Amino acid sequence: MGCNLAPKRIGLIAHDACKRDMTEWARFNAGKLAPHKLYCTGTTGKLVRDVLIEECGEEGLDITIFKSGPLGGDQQMGAVIASEQLDILIFFTDPMSMQPHDVDIKALIRISTIANIVVACTRSTADYVISSSMFDGDYRPARKTYESYTARKVRLSGRR
Ligand code: PGA
Repeated sequence: MGCNLAPKRIGLIAHDACKRDMTEWARFNAGKLAPHKLYCTGTTGKLVRDVLIEECGEEGLDITIFKSGPLGGDQQMGAVIASEQLDILIFFTDPMSMQPHDVDIKALIRISTIANIVVACTRSTADYVISSSMFDGDYRPARKTYESYTARKVRLSGRR
């Protein structure tokens, strides 16, 4: 297993109703995914790791598995994104169920937008992403500095 260019950092998350989609997608794309650095939420990660080991073997597999999403795994993924350590997030979301960690999901999408990373929330978008010539190249998201925000003057006076 190996990758000529620097490996991409790819996050993988699937809600329960989408886990079959995620495992099928990971199996179909195992050869393309396995050389990269993967970050996953707990349950998704165990499933994806099993699939990749079955398809490509364990050697060279670089996969970090966080806590389960609702138990903080989405927030761990968010921290990786905020630290500019993720290039692509494949996040298969279930639009038909209430999620107990809805606020974490929104936060994850928001920090992904701040970081301008590639985000795919449907399998068809994920297909486009992984089959793009940019996936095989050295494309990295352009980072915004948000300088005017971080350098803003904050007024401390006024009513409490
Ligand atoms: P899970 O978490 O992979 O641990 O099931 C996914 C999620 O965020 O719902």
